[in-house]
Amino acid sequence: MTDSSLFPYITKPGRYLGHEYNSVKKNWQTAKCRAALIFPDLYEIGMSHQGLQILYHLLNNKEEFLAERCYCPNKDVEKLLKQKKLPITSLESGKPLQDFDMLGITLPYELCYTNILTILDLAKIPFTTQERDTSYPLIIGGGAGAFNPEPVAELFDAILIGDGEEAMIEIASCIAEGEKNSWNKEKQLTRLAEIEGVYIPSHFLPIYNGQGDLTEIKSLTEKTIVKKRFFTNFEEIDHLTHPIVPNAKIVHDRLGIEIARGCTRGCRFCQAGITYRPVRERSLDQVKQLAQKAIADSGFDELALLSLSTGDYSCLEQVLPDLMNEFADQYVSVAMPSMRVGTLSQPIMDQIKRVRKTGFTLAPEAGSERMRQVINKGITEKDLLDTCKNAFSLGWTIMKLYFMIGLPTETDEDIEAISDLTNKIRQFRDAGGKIQKSQVKVSVGTFVPKPHTPFQWARQISLEESKRKILLLKKILPKKGCHLSYHNPLMSFMEGVFSRGDRKLFQLLLEAWKNGARLDGWSDYFDFSIWEKSAENLNIQLDSYLKGYPLDAVLPWQHISTGVSTDFFKSELEKSLRGTYTPDCRYNKCQQCGVCDFKTITPIVYNRKKFSEPVETRSVPPKETRKKTNKDHFKYMVSYSRTGNICYLGHLEILQVIFRCLRRSNITTHYSQGFNPSPKVSFGPALSVGTESYAEYFIMDLPEPLQDIPAAIQRMSTNLPPGLCITNITAHNGKIDQEITTDYQAALVKPLTSSQEQTINNFLNSKEFQWKRIRKGKEKSIDIRPLISKIKIADEYHLEFTITSCAGQAGIKPQETIQIILGLNAEEALQIKFSKLAWQPLHK
Ligand code: SF4
Repeated sequence: MTDSSLFPYITKPGRYLGHEYNSVKKNWQTAKCRAALIFPDLYEIGMSHQGLQILYHLLNNKEEFLAERCYCPNKDVEKLLKQKKLPITSLESGKPLQDFDMLGITLPYELCYTNILTILDLAKIPFTTQERDTSYPLIIGGGAGAFNPEPVAELFDAILIGDGEEAMIEIASCIAEGEKNSWNKEKQLTRLAEIEGVYIPSHFLPIYNGQGDLTEIKSLTEKTIVKKRFFTNFEEIDHLTHPIVPNAKIVHDRLGIEIARGCTRGCRFCQAGITYRPVRERSLDQVKQLAQKAIADSGFDELALLSLSTGDYSCLEQVLPDLMNEFADQYVSVAMPSMRVGTLSQPIMDQIKRVRKTGFTLAPEAGSERMRQVINKGITEKDLLDTCKNAFSLGWTIMKLYFMIGLPTETDEDIEAISDLTNKIRQFRDAGGKIQKSQVKVSVGTFVPKPHTPFQWARQISLEESKRKILLLKKILPKKGCHLSYHNPLMSFMEGVFSRGDRKLFQLLLEAWKNGARLDGWSDYFDFSIWEKSAENLNIQLDSYLKGYPLDAVLPWQHISTGVSTDFFKSELEKSLRGTYTPDCRYNKCQQCGVCDFKTITPIVYNRKKFSEPVETRSVPPKETRKKTNKDHFKYMVSYSRTGNICYLGHLEILQVIFRCLRRSNITTHYSQGFNPSPKVSFGPALSVGTESYAEYFIMDLPEPLQDIPAAIQRMSTNLPPGLCITNITAHNGKIDQEITTDYQAALVKPLTSSQEQTINNFLNSKEFQWKRIRKGKEKSIDIRPLISKIKIADEYHLEFTITSCAGQAGIKPQETIQIILGLNAEEALQIKFSKLAWQPLHK
């Protein structure tokens, strides 16, 4: 959505601006396949997703293809687009989604399904494959949630099961060929079906008996099973070395490097542990090279090593100190978001303690030893307690623990064990000597059985049971030094319905969307009553989807194969009941899950001896955290302009954009001290969102003088997103003027009337002009006359005026000035475009 006339009316316009650093805009006319990659959630979630960015860059790296992005708009934008009858468009070119050849929609989790309908509705694209002919783009799904796509199967023309790196290029080539040869839709789908990993839902027909039970999934073609696509050439395909750098704040605002794909720990509840098998690690050298290149080209100040279980990466003890040492001087921190108890060896703890200590997160998943054996968690209470004690003694004050309730065979004793374990961990709070501040945060979610896991046949606990178990926990958890939060059981309930649902649920989805279900993954927006009412309208028993399946049942997803055999799942289910452990094939022998052929598909692990070597031999000592920085201070005032859509970013967002630009431009400032060091850069007064400016500045404090100022201007300007431009850099004393006058221009929507001209003259001729300002519910009267030193009518559409402002004293904004003086209402004032032209110190 790039129509800037809407920006003044919406919340967080930064979500819809596009044109981020490293985003790509290719030639529309020459592209042979134009793909819009869609993440069906808000920008801040979608931009944090690695998969979409990988595909975006892979497609755009091919000369013949073009890929752009689109995220789900928030409710205010949906309403506005409908009111104005505007279609939803891509971020890069602002083209309506209908104009693309393909929409590639990520399926990340079940509660985003209604967002897909919102996007298609705004794109004026019919919801089902049957309703769409070749005049519409092909709609292709994929992603982690595609392994049971049946509730949304009718919506998609094709769904990619498994890794997309190679398959996406093949899909785009096939669509380009179809376009060139004007294939009809069926021919296009038949050709797509030939690509390994591609599922064509319309080529399969679920058959039900009179009781409504699924009895068969009938294939209408020769392809009876859709096998997951495996990608094995990690070293050969370019990873994300030019990541898109968001302008607006996102959830994971950092550089992510996927150090490994797959986890074979074998937790029996975990779908990702099955669907991403086998483990494929990147080499140590590749990880380091990717990190260097991508940090240099993005300017992020945090690097996250991503994997389903980062601690299991076999070269972690080598790569971690190397990366931390490499980036310490650049003030880039290294984060590992998914550590696992048992992988936190002393050398790793030594490295982790070098970074900022926010919260230490562990996922025991279950409280009792017995329950952890059932789920094959493979960690003992001693492991957990040792890790927590260690973390508190190293200075962490917040310990976050994740648990599930409702796991198979769970009793109240297992719930009580969560409280017992928490209590034991709580005792260690004084290990770091900060008991007053220390806290154990317990987070609980209801277990949702997932397809393609040993628990795929299991029953999900009812809503009432879920609520009762949470209440029990609330009652028994220690009150002091412990905080309980829990995932909304109603959301877990709906997730459970769709997780193992069949095609019948598509009607429920349509009905709920029509009844107003939007952004269901957001607890603020999720409304269970809409789902209940919709199910009632359609006579669907929601809890029937939670009751589980007999072992011989036809499962809605059984025509989709991850490569892991059903026999393996059944044997794991039996082992869970006996509490028998299945070791990780990464460091032990093959457990015969069925995925590997050991020719093309095989685990890639670089250091299989990781857990058999003595710790000391693997330890790499941390070097001095940072070079001693020069004590000299060289301060420069950097002037810049801010025009076009970028002026809709907020002040804090602009700060982040500038910090990243400095890093990309190789300009190192002094930093503040502590675990959250920030660049020593002072900014001029915050500008109102939407105001353009030709006179912005910041003052940077450098340890060394700039050698070549014109070159620095050039370098920084090319490293900024469109709309921001460095105009000058001069040496400065570092003091920010506290009393200034600022010149603005207002571009009016309607020509000035003669009575408005008169009001301006009256204002200028007055000695005093009282304005009643209401801030935070309090009213205050301010004489604004002395604050406005000039108002000039440049022409009938333009006013030029000067505002005086003094730090710490009540002031007035440009929009308020014109609204008050011309007597406009808020809506009229919102339409005026303001530009900041210049500023001067009040006393020169
Ligand atoms: S086939 Fe064996 S080696 Fe391959 S993922 Fe399964 S258990 Fe591991």
